[in-house]
Amino acid sequence: MSDENKIPYKIYLNENEMPKAWYNLRADMKNKPAPLLNPGTGKPLTAEELSPIFCEELVQQELDDTTPYIDIPDEIREFYKMYRPSPLVRAYCLEKKLDTPAKIYYKFEGNNTSGSHKLNSAIAQAYYAKKQGLKGVTTETGAGQWGTALSMACSYFDLDCKVYMVKVSYEQKPFRREVMRTYGASVTPSPSETTEVGKKILAEHPGTTGSLGCAISEAVEVATKNPGYRYVLGSVLNQVLLHQSVIGLETKAALDKYGIKPDVIIGCAGGGSNLGGLIAPFMGEKLRGEADYRIIAVEPASCPSFTRGTYAYDFCDTGMICPLAKMYTLGSSFIPSANHAGGLRFHGMSSTLSQLYHDGYMEATSVEQTSVFEAAEQFARVEGILPAPESSHAIRVAIDEALKCKETGEEKTIVFGLTGTGYFDMVAYEKYNNGEMGDYIPTDEEIAASIAKLPKVEG
Ligand SMILES: *Cc1c(COP(=O)(O)O)cnc(C)c1O
Repeated sequence: MSDENKIPYKIYLNENEMPKAWYNLRADMKNKPAPLLNPGTGKPLTAEELSPIFCEELVQQELDDTTPYIDIPDEIREFYKMYRPSPLVRAYCLEKKLDTPAKIYYKFEGNNTSGSHKLNSAIAQAYYAKKQGLKGVTTETGAGQWGTALSMACSYFDLDCKVYMVKVSYEQKPFRREVMRTYGASVTPSPSETTEVGKKILAEHPGTTGSLGCAISEAVEVATKNPGYRYVLGSVLNQVLLHQSVIGLETKAALDKYGIKPDVIIGCAGGGSNLGGLIAPFMGEKLRGEADYRIIAVEPASCPSFTRGTYAYDFCDTGMICPLAKMYTLGSSFIPSANHAGGLRFHGMSSTLSQLYHDGYMEATSVEQTSVFEAAEQFARVEGILPAPESSHAIRVAIDEALKCKETGEEKTIVFGLTGTGYFDMVAYEKYNNGEMGDYIPTDEEIAASIAKLPKVEG
C-alpha cells in the first residue's frame, strides 16, 4: 500500500484535539490592521465608545492586536462539541473526475443545522452577550446563514434575537426566514419602516431590494436605542475572524497528523471571516517566516472588493452610522445587482485581510456566477455534498488550480474551505439549471460613482 492510500477520505479529529484557544492572527502581523475610526472625530475608537454597540468582551477582542491565543470558554467548547471538530475531506472522487495529479482537500463547515461556518462565531457572540446579562442582540443577515446561526445560538443561551434580513433574500428565501423564526428570532425585511435609517433609505431609493449595508444600519440603530441590547456582526470584524480561527486550527491539526503541507489554500471572501479563519495558522507561519503558502481569496465578479475596490477608510453600512474601517471597498453606497444570486454581497472586506492583501501576503481573484454554479454542480455530482453558492466560489478556483496541475503534471496539494451547504439556495440553482442565470459585472463608472462618495479621512 502506498503512502497515498493511507490518507482516509475524511480526516476527523477527536473532541480533545479540538482547539482550546482561538488564534489571533493580528498578533503576528508587523503592520497591524488600521484601527476603526469614530466617523464624527476621525480618531480611533476607544473601548468606551464601542461598548454601547458591542458586548464588552467582544470589544476587548476587537481591539486586541497583541495576544496570540485567547482561551475558548468551556461553555462555547461544549456547544462546539455538538458539531465539531468538522471533517477535513480528501476529494478523491473530484480528483478522479478531473483526472488531475493534484491532491484536493476541503474543510467542510456545513455540518450543522445553520449550514455554514457562521455558527462558530454566533455561539461565541451569544455567550458573551449572555455573560454580560443582556436581554438580546440585533443583527443583519444577507442570504440568511448568519441570521440562522445567530438564532440557534440565541435560543441556546435564551437571548432575544432581532434579525434585519436583506429584502431580496427575505422574499427569495422564505425557508431561511422560517428556520430563524423556529429558533425564536424576529425577522424584518430591510430596508424597513421600523427604523429612522430604514425610512431614509426607502425615501431615497424607493423599491430597493436592500443590501447588507442597509440592514447593518437598521440593526445598529435598534441595538443602540433599546436598553439591554447590543449589535452583533457575522463577518468583517476582527473578533469574528478570531472565532473562525477554529476552522484553520483544526485544518492544520488534521493535515499535520498525516504530515501534509498544502501548497495552495483557497477560500471564498464575502466579509472575509471564513477565509481569515481558514488561513489564520498558515498565515501566522508565513508572517513568522516559518513556511510559505499560496493563499487565494475568491470573490464574485459582481461584488469585487479586493480585485476592483479601493484601499481606504469607509463606512461598513449604507446608512453611514457605523464606525469607519480601512479596507478594500467598493464604497458603502455600492449595491450589488439583484441578479447576483450567490451571497458574498458585502461592499467591503475585513481590515485584517485587507492589510495582508495590501502587503502582498495573499492573492485575490474574481469569478462569474455561471462558472461558479458550473463548479458547484460538478462538485455535487461526485462529492455528494450540495455546496452553498458562496462556497462554490472557492470550488471554482480549486478546480481551476487542479486543472492547471493536469497540464503541468504538478502534484500540488490544494486545500479549500467548503463553508456550507446550499439547500436553501435552490432558487438560484433552478435559475442555473434552466439556463436563466446571467453574469453581471459592474462597470468602471458604477464603481467609480460609489468610490467618489467615500468619506474623506486621512490615513
Ligand atoms: C456568509 C457565508 C460566506 C461568506 O462570509 P465570510 O465572512 O466571507 O466568510 C461564505 N460561505 C457561506 C456558506 C456563508 O454562509
